[in-house]
Amino acid sequence: MRLLLVEDSVALADELLPRLRSEGYACDWLVDGRDAARAAFDDSYDAVVLDLGLPGKNGLDILQEWRDAGLGMPVLVLTARNTWSDRIAGLGAGADDYLGKPFHPDELVLRLRTLLRRSHGADSTPLLTVNGIALDEARQCVRRDGDDISLTGGEFSLLRYFMLNPRRLLSKWQLAEHLYSLDVERNSNVIEVHISHLRDKLGKGIIETRRGQGYVFRGLLP
Ligand code: CA
Repeated sequence: MRLLLVEDSVALADELLPRLRSEGYACDWLVDGRDAARAAFDDSYDAVVLDLGLPGKNGLDILQEWRDAGLGMPVLVLTARNTWSDRIAGLGAGADDYLGKPFHPDELVLRLRTLLRRSHGADSTPLLTVNGIALDEARQCVRRDGDDISLTGGEFSLLRYFMLNPRRLLSKWQLAEHLYSLDVERNSNVIEVHISHLRDKLGKGIIETRRGQGYVFRGLLP
């Protein structure tokens, strides 16, 4: 999952970026409202965390612009303007969730998890369970028969992306786009290595290869 964080407080971004990355999200960070308004058109973000008071262009106008243009990615508004009328304006402009400052990073992480699940039609159950695979997002492991199967950070992010997009044919390029931020060099061989490790740990059939096209998550389907 790839997130866009739009926030002009450097101190807050410095706190949130490592936290979000440790949760397995690829994150791009922008400070200026005009840059952010354009960025959501250029790249495929799975969700946006959007501050409202921004240099260049205000967050509500950006959000309105995205929605008017038909961009439907989930947007969580993060702001110090937290009166009921601000919340109504934000939700009215197309925000999916709203978090007033100050807030605890744990709450942001949980709200994002719910938002991303919901936007992919998955339940907000403690474990993400798809096609017989149960992923513990908080502990970044797979639960099977009461045991943990541990995953590396890269394996966890890839498996979660597959599980939130079951049945979809995903090319290596699409996977890289959603798993790596702009500042990371995209190497599709790394994805092949992660897939091979996931098959070793969880079963050969868990991810199907369509030669020349990409991959489909099958889980434990017969
Ligand atoms: Ca601000």
